[in-house]
Amino acid sequence: MKKVKVKNPVVEIDGDEMARVIWHMIKEKLINPFFDIDIRYYDLGIKKRDETEDRITVDAAMAIKEIGVGVKCATITPNADRVREYNLKEQWKSPNGTIRSILDGTVFRKPIIIKNIPPAVRNWKRPIIIGRHAYGDIYKSTEYIVEGPGRAELVFTPEKGEKVVIEMHNFKGKGVIMGIHNLEESIRNFALSCINYALSERVDLWFGAKDTISKKYHGFFRDIFSDEVEKVSHKFKERGINYRYLLIDDAVAQVIKSEGGMLWACMNYDGDVMSDMVASGFGSLGLMTSVLVSPDGKYEFEAAHGTIVRHYREYLKGRPTSTNSIASIFAWTGALKKRGELDNTVEVVRLASEIEKAVIETVEDGIMTKDLVPLASPPVKGYALTEEFIDAVASRIKKTIGG
Ligand code: NAP
Ligand code: MG
Repeated sequence: MKKVKVKNPVVEIDGDEMARVIWHMIKEKLINPFFDIDIRYYDLGIKKRDETEDRITVDAAMAIKEIGVGVKCATITPNADRVREYNLKEQWKSPNGTIRSILDGTVFRKPIIIKNIPPAVRNWKRPIIIGRHAYGDIYKSTEYIVEGPGRAELVFTPEKGEKVVIEMHNFKGKGVIMGIHNLEESIRNFALSCINYALSERVDLWFGAKDTISKKYHGFFRDIFSDEVEKVSHKFKERGINYRYLLIDDAVAQVIKSEGGMLWACMNYDGDVMSDMVASGFGSLGLMTSVLVSPDGKYEFEAAHGTIVRHYREYLKGRPTSTNSIASIFAWTGALKKRGELDNTVEVVRLASEIEKAVIETVEDGIMTKDLVPLASPPVKGYALTEEFIDAVASRIKKTIGG
């Protein structure tokens, strides 16, 4: 079989534990036999990060910045237990956090829809994609416990000019205070990433906030969004997509009643909460993909799940596992489709789409891993082991493209 040549390089970021095990199976059975790719490989497995004092994470992020497209396996974010378990020099920072701040990107989570894995919400037919702003608000807040009567004030001291003092509350007794902030540049970049994503995926863009109550803070977000959308309104028209601003509570109600098929841009806290609601509504974490998009159009694709430790422990004991590889496969096909789109190589896009189709049809034929079995309708008997599922997909691809 002649391989399809991918014109420009792709950055591959390797990871940890069970995610790394399936990563290698996917590459060997579903990617390497079909594509000829100039891979720029970065091993972000915990050992390598420790050896390089985490420089490899920065190098990988810089490579994506240069090359434009990357694909990443799930990695361990070490906590104290992990430092002991892997005998690490330090509790290295989250690789995703490092890469996200270097690319200044936004993460979009998108579920994979399969006919016989119906979502919990009956009318959801198309993916609901969540874009979460990842800077500020309560995640960078200053808090204070008020122990007794006194006046709380908001004070801003400009570099030049008069101090601004606004009274927050005159406390008669105990209470609590929080100060939050955000940055115009960060909000604007978030809006731009969301606009890029909506245009490139041809989906409506929704943004929800509570500007009726928070006229300045939430209003600031609303105005930046409408300002940026306004600048490219002709592109929205060309693509046949719409922008909708909603109050956040209305957005929640409308999303539940909808068929899906929109990008829902969320402020930091809303995105944290809503992405978990949408993910569980669509079924397994094994069906949730994620892509980091920078405001200047660099992409990093991954699965939303972690390193699946429990399965890895079973695997190390030599026991059979049934780990869902679908989101990781779609990370690869997502990266290849984007590469093909940027390079203008239709055959790359077409083949990557064939692989996605083969995955979906395999599940629709009733071949699936254990996590999907309780969700399947009609019900299925039995489940495929980790490697059996990938093999079933590989043979289906060979059948379609061979015949
Ligand atoms: P996790 O790896 O996502 O796994 C949590 C549980 O969800 C698993 O034990 C499994 O449930 C189920 N699950 C997740 N993915 C699955 C799949 N593909 N197939 C079947 N079942 C799946 O989350 P975690 O245990 O909280 O985190 C483990 C490690 O991953 C941590 O070190 C964390 O730092 C890291 N992490 C990395 C990323 C990333 O790199 N993007 C994201 C999140 C977490 P059952 O055990 O019930 O089968
Ligand atoms: Mg959360």
